[in-house]
Amino acid sequence: MDHLLSKTVAQSTPLVDPFGRTVDYLRVSVTDRCDLRCVYCMSEAMTFLPRKDLLTLEELDRLCSAFVEKGTKRIRLTGGEPLVRRGIMDFIKTFSRHLKSGALDELTLTTNGTQLSKYADQLAEYGVRRLNVSLDTLQANRFKDVTRWGDLSKVMSGIEAALKAGLKIKINMVAVKGFNEDEIIPMMKWCHDKGMDLTMIETMPLGDVGQDRNDQFISVSDISKMLQQDYTLSDIPYKTGGPARYVKVEETGGRVGFITPMTHNFCESCNRVRLTCTGTLYMCLGKDDAADLRAPLRSSEGDEQLHLAIEEAISRKPKGHDFLIDRDNKNPAVKRHMSTTGG
Ligand code: SAM
Ligand code: SF4
Repeated sequence: MDHLLSKTVAQSTPLVDPFGRTVDYLRVSVTDRCDLRCVYCMSEAMTFLPRKDLLTLEELDRLCSAFVEKGTKRIRLTGGEPLVRRGIMDFIKTFSRHLKSGALDELTLTTNGTQLSKYADQLAEYGVRRLNVSLDTLQANRFKDVTRWGDLSKVMSGIEAALKAGLKIKINMVAVKGFNEDEIIPMMKWCHDKGMDLTMIETMPLGDVGQDRNDQFISVSDISKMLQQDYTLSDIPYKTGGPARYVKVEETGGRVGFITPMTHNFCESCNRVRLTCTGTLYMCLGKDDAADLRAPLRSSEGDEQLHLAIEEAISRKPKGHDFLIDRDNKNPAVKRHMSTTGG
């Protein structure tokens, strides 16, 4: 990938959608594969994309760099599990040139944490400052159940390694009814003891996972009410560029974020688009409309076609979505899994 080192971004023109929103945040699902099978995310027998359909890491670099040229300031790598994609650390090392040049403000990842013991030091070295780590329980047997086979101790040592490397961590916890409601307070205390933020996420109806979604749903407003029975929550203006609304917990001094795709619309301030590992750009997490960027990427060596295709895609970014768990026929709102589009 050495030839890419010479391609840094000279100037950027921001992408603005028809509703006046500047789109400067790109989430990239670098693989649809994962070493876990969380019950709300994947079915047990997932069929993954044939490897030949994936963009190469060189192509991903070119595509993401085109976004940086178009004013993207923050990129989050996700998946599937981003750290199981072969060569991903080389990609991050090479791509970090945009951090060094100042064209990109932040390169970050959402990870399940299983590979962090191995990679935390390198991530810090390449300029990653923050990570979101997904963790729904602190109990080994429950962790095995929700991930279908995961080993909690691996994630725990990964988190320790990341903290030691100086990375800031936010724990993402998906609230699942009958599974982890009783762990919300212990999880919050554990996070705040370690100086980590906690974000609570409602389950979203993405993809068929072989279970009735209505059985899994807890609203974050119920969680907030539950926390308020024992804690004082103060609204704070803290923002990380994502859709979470944050409160400060006065007793612990830590922060809790709430992401409420099901009960509140966070579309008015949406600044992001999502790219899959095959080069499909989804302009909205909750809609099926998408743009193929792989064809323009492969059609010529220059980036002109690609830039035009990105601009055209942004001109189609919808005003908002309307997630709904369909109570009559229990169908997911969109057919693709979270692991395709990236969380
Ligand atoms: N494998 C990485 C991880 O688990 O952090 C990154 C990809 S994962 C799809 C990103 C986030 O999406 C995770 O925090 C996960 O808990 C969340 N997620 C997956 N399916 C979801 C669903 N149906 N509803 C809400 N969140 C979901
Ligand atoms: Fe894998 Fe993340 Fe989905 Fe769990 S939530 S199955 S770790 S992609």
